[in-house]
Amino acid sequence: MKPRKQTSSTPNIRVAPSGVHGLGAFAVRDLPAEAFLGLYEGRRYTQQEIAAKSWNDQLTYLFTLSNHETIDGAKGGNGTRHLNHACDPNCEAVEEYDDAGELMLKFQTLVPVDAGDELFIDYSLTADDGSPAENYPCHCGSPNCRGTMLAPVDAEE
Ligand SMILES: [Zn+2]
Repeated sequence: MKPRKQTSSTPNIRVAPSGVHGLGAFAVRDLPAEAFLGLYEGRRYTQQEIAAKSWNDQLTYLFTLSNHETIDGAKGGNGTRHLNHACDPNCEAVEEYDDAGELMLKFQTLVPVDAGDELFIDYSLTADDGSPAENYPCHCGSPNCRGTMLAPVDAEE
């Protein structure tokens, strides 16, 4: 496990109390669609390390990548870890390989946002322990709210 100490800056966002949940991330200026917000940073764990650890209710800051590495934004993360969930988000998470071949998770806007807007992504969480959706309630207030931060039940699976 390589130590990761550097935390990149997130000049387009500021962290402030959210209207939805705890702290949130807000645009500091008007941003176009696909504006870069920052990389999701933090301590990285392998799938085996995650399985061996008891996380209890710390799910909020864990982000699992498609290569099964998990990033814990609570340890060494930047402001992007305060992006809250919404079922009708204005931002998205995108995986990208950096120059060293490491898989990174970056956040960008989906649509143009105004300075001061709170920024949201769709967490689409997976409850690996089989917890019911009610354990991850959503209060985003969107007309399309699923009522849970878990991923939609996918008809094609
Ligand atoms: Zn919702």
